[in-house]
Amino acid sequence: MAANNGGWCGRGFKHRTFPKHSPLICYNKPASAQVDKTLYDDKRFKSLTGEIVETVVVPKRSARTWTMQTGDLCRITVSEGSQVGDVNFWNLDNTKERFYSGKTRQLHSTHLKVYDRLWSNLPYLRPMATFVYDSLAAYGIDEDGGSLHDVIGTRCDDYTYKLITGNDRVGSCHSSLTKAVIEERGLKEEDVHDVWNIFMCTGFTRVSIEEFCYIQCFLIVGYGSYILYLSGYSTIFL
Ligand SMILES: [Zn+2]
Repeated sequence: MAANNGGWCGRGFKHRTFPKHSPLICYNKPASAQVDKTLYDDKRFKSLTGEIVETVVVPKRSARTWTMQTGDLCRITVSEGSQVGDVNFWNLDNTKERFYSGKTRQLHSTHLKVYDRLWSNLPYLRPMATFVYDSLAAYGIDEDGGSLHDVIGTRCDDYTYKLITGNDRVGSCHSSLTKAVIEERGLKEEDVHDVWNIFMCTGFTRVSIEEFCYIQCFLIVGYGSYILYLSGYSTIFL
C-alpha cells in the first residue's frame, strides 16, 4: 500500500504543493456601501448643532440600551479611564433584523473607518448606521497590522472561559449584554450577537493568523476619545 504514497506513511499530513495566486478583493463595493462624504459631513454637522435627545452613562463592566430614530447621531465617548465597548444593533420595529458583523467585514474591512457602514443580517442587508467621525482615526494601521474598531471577534463570554480554563465564571461582556436586553427590552440571550468592538486595538498575527489584541490599549484610547455614527433607521443600540 505505502509504495505509491511518495513516502507518506498515512500519519500526519501528506505533502502537497499548490500553485501561487495573487490575492483578489472578494467584493466589489456596492454603491450603497460608499457614502457621499460631503453629504454625511453635513448630516454630522447638522446633528452636532442640534438638540441632545438623550444622554446615557454606561458604567464599566455593564451594558445599557438606547433608541435612535432615522438620522439621529450617536456620540460614544470614553468618560472614565481607558475602555472598550461591544456594540449590538437591532431594528426597533423588527428585532429579527440585527447587526451582521461578518458581512460588514466583507463589505468594508476588519476594522471600520469613518464613512464605513454597519450592515444588517440576511435577508435584510441594509445599512443600519454610518460611522461618521473617529477621534482616533490617525492611529490607522500599525506595523503589526493592529487597528481600532474591529468587526473581527465575537465578545468575551463565560462559556468560552469555561471551555478554556475549566472554571465557572459569571461576568463577561456577553452576560452584561444579555442582562441589559432582557431587563430593558424583553429580548433573549439568543438575540445578543457578534459585536462592533469599538476602541479596542486588534489584528491578526502574520503566520498563524490568530487574533491578537494589545494589553496596552490604554495607551491608545484615553479619556475623551470618541466616535460618532448616524442611524440609518429606527434602531436599538446596546
Ligand atoms: Zn469583554
